[in-house]
Amino acid sequence: MLMNIYLASGNANKAKEIGLLLAAKALEVTLESAALVGGMPFVEEDKDSFEGNARKKAEALLELIPEDSWALADDSGLCVECLHGAPGVKSARFSGENATDETNNEKLLTLMHGNSPETRRAAFKCVLVLLGPGGQEHVFMGECQGSITLEKKGSSGFGYDPLFQPDGYSRTFAQLGLEVKNRISHRSNALRELLQWLRADARGPKEKNSFM
Ligand code: IMP
Repeated sequence: MLMNIYLASGNANKAKEIGLLLAAKALEVTLESAALVGGMPFVEEDKDSFEGNARKKAEALLELIPEDSWALADDSGLCVECLHGAPGVKSARFSGENATDETNNEKLLTLMHGNSPETRRAAFKCVLVLLGPGGQEHVFMGECQGSITLEKKGSSGFGYDPLFQPDGYSRTFAQLGLEVKNRISHRSNALRELLQWLRADARGPKEKNSFM
């Protein structure tokens, strides 16, 4: 059964990443942009969890798409252990309303000043919420564990990439480049969970739900 999934994001990079993953696997899935239904409506990301924010975005899009379609939204961020999980859901605007990647990274380094390498544990987290016909909901999660470096390194990627060194590597996401990052990132881990669910769902999501 063909499944139409609309992506609740205006972010072209995310759409490309998700599109490539789904297309490559020859699934009976089409990925549509929110642009097809007038664009992703503005949603205030004011929930206290990634899942809450992702659900809010998926719900907003579900209102606009054809009844037999699905809405997929994601939310992600960086959680630093010694900062009790901050910046967390506030990752994008960590340093205020006019935050940039630059000011966010500076704030993070300042707050962690004096922390030794052993106390700089952190994880990127990503939650995907998929909403479908008849109130169906599926949640997928991905993480990438690592640590925050003492200074910025590298120039690829975005956000906190220059400060995040994933476990098992001696370079930051921004030094490792997109190919490596996309293999091990929180977002790709969450997408793999989604993919696994889609694969197991050969008979279609409605049938699957009836015996779940
Ligand atoms: P969102 O999921 O697009 O709302 O991302 C929220 C914020 O988390 C971004 O603006 C970044 O600051 C941070 N973030 C999420 N994923 C990544 C990543 O893969 N690398 C670096 N920063 C990220």
